[in-house]
Amino acid sequence: MMKEKITVGFINLGCAKNLVDSEVMAGQLIQDGYALAASPDTADVVVVNTCSFIRDAREESFEVIAEVIELKSEFPDKKLIVTGCLTQRYQKDFADVNPDIDAFIGLDDLPMISKIVAEITSDTNKQIYEISTENPTKVFEPTLPGLSFSGNSFSYIKIAEGCTHRCAFCAIPNIRGKHRSRTIDSIVGEAEAILENGIKEINLISQDTTFYGNDLKDGSDLPKLMRAISNIGGDFKLRVLYCYPDKQLEEILETMGELPQACHYLDIPIQHSHPEILEAMDRKQTIEFVEKIPEMARKILPDITLRTTCLLGFPGERKEHIDHLMDYIEKSRFDHMGSFIFSAEEGTPAYDMGNVPSVKETLKYQEQLMQLQMQIVAEKLESKIGQKDRVLLVGRSIEEPDVWIARSDGQAPDVDSCTYVVGAEHIKLPDFIEVEYTDIAEYDLVAKARVE
Ligand code: SF4
Repeated sequence: MMKEKITVGFINLGCAKNLVDSEVMAGQLIQDGYALAASPDTADVVVVNTCSFIRDAREESFEVIAEVIELKSEFPDKKLIVTGCLTQRYQKDFADVNPDIDAFIGLDDLPMISKIVAEITSDTNKQIYEISTENPTKVFEPTLPGLSFSGNSFSYIKIAEGCTHRCAFCAIPNIRGKHRSRTIDSIVGEAEAILENGIKEINLISQDTTFYGNDLKDGSDLPKLMRAISNIGGDFKLRVLYCYPDKQLEEILETMGELPQACHYLDIPIQHSHPEILEAMDRKQTIEFVEKIPEMARKILPDITLRTTCLLGFPGERKEHIDHLMDYIEKSRFDHMGSFIFSAEEGTPAYDMGNVPSVKETLKYQEQLMQLQMQIVAEKLESKIGQKDRVLLVGRSIEEPDVWIARSDGQAPDVDSCTYVVGAEHIKLPDFIEVEYTDIAEYDLVAKARVE
């Protein structure tokens, strides 16, 4: 009888960039003769890909690891591999205090996954530690470029790894190393494979997507990359996520305007609006851009959707800084906004700054800021009723089988709201459909399919 393949299940935590790392490992495993498990319960080996951006993310990672260890006590043959930012950040300290974890993989060592799975499934007692460096320098191309963990409608392409900025609150450059870009040819090759698999939307991601190509010193940059992907041709969407507020934005927006596939969508985490706080965050160079981005973006692309993220409770933040941010958000009218609260991260300049505002106070301000944003969103959504649009149908509602789930150019996967569509029976998923907006449902839009 043929021996069944060893199965590996992934639990992915954190951001889409981590998801891509899981796809890289999964592709490697498939190529080396392993199979993917539908869930950790049924997997011979569970890989937990951790996040360590802020304290909440770390706590979630530890909780998930503890759950898998619990599962291992029920199924003693099951193996656990931990990888991602938490492993990379704490290295040997993390491994030493977690004897129940069978293997650790560093960020530069992801392609070692098959070798490690082979070792832990053949030697039942050995803990493997495969973290080759404290300063990652690699950026991986997926082994199976068409493999997508995000379903069959959209895919992420990680175009670069690491970050060369040094925002005072952020541990990412310490964990993931300096920015390094993939080549345009490699990314276009991946995009072609993804589109051949029927995916309809490509999302370009990295820690700082605007910085793409700077390190290659061959003239590559984000506008050139966008054009090269657009030149593949065909009916698909191209979205850019995680931009940094800097001088190349104008050209990026103009490029979005030129390319038929580009979503008119700008994801631009400003973090704060007050110059003193931006300076303290070591984001001084963004001050003039933060001020002018909303107006500049709408001047170049009047139909653009703007998304941002704000960080509250940074050391030294006072009521006047919050008032400034509230005024800015009210005036700027972003379509989507996320916020998070400062977490003092070891190894970052902000860790020792002290003068951290009280969490209670910061939570109160966060609530006020999100209330304000909710009003803005409600008004914006209301104004869409009666408008026509072309959206990407991505799935069917489980509760209401006659309702389809779709996303417009202004709705990015995973982070934004969606559009519920009725009357789309004639469309095969995933595909585009012309709709007219008829209602809103909290943060979401409701639409009916247009029959010409
Ligand atoms: S741009 Fe700043 S916040 Fe973003 S990953 Fe780089 S250092 Fe962190």
